[in-house]
Amino acid sequence: MTQKRILMHERKRIALVAHDNQKDDLLEWALYNQGNLAKHDLYATGTTGMVLEAALQLPITKLRSGPLGGDQQLGAKIAEEQIDIMIFFWDPLEPLPHDPDVKALLRIAVVWNIPVACDRATADFIFSSPLMSMEYERSMPDYDQIVNREIHWRS
Ligand code: PGA
Repeated sequence: MTQKRILMHERKRIALVAHDNQKDDLLEWALYNQGNLAKHDLYATGTTGMVLEAALQLPITKLRSGPLGGDQQLGAKIAEEQIDIMIFFWDPLEPLPHDPDVKALLRIAVVWNIPVACDRATADFIFSSPLMSMEYERSMPDYDQIVNREIHWRS
């Protein structure tokens, strides 16, 4: 399949999400990286966004709370090329009512080849990358070939 390229600007659009047991972890990480986060546009699911906005004093576009559709809203934004990076500290030890949404969100992030950090070490590696302050063209399969495939149906 041919590849297409999507440009990520110096100023990235970063999604931040943490399940309840991981919110302290994300908050601590975000406070440590406050200066870097201020250079980018931030998005978050509802409760995560509320917690971070109060602590960081940075503007955050808040979507619905995760279990109420926030994960799906974020997935839609990724598919519309409106999110460049996702920091998603999901809970590895507790089942949640919206587990199917979590799986869908993680899947769509891979479909669109955006960097995803599911733990602090990965988030640290992403944030210490020189690519954070540069333009970057990420490549992904040109799905137009799938969209425009020949479909046979009975008329
Ligand atoms: P929340 O959602 O930020 O509203 O808590 C997170 C999630 O469970 O996806």
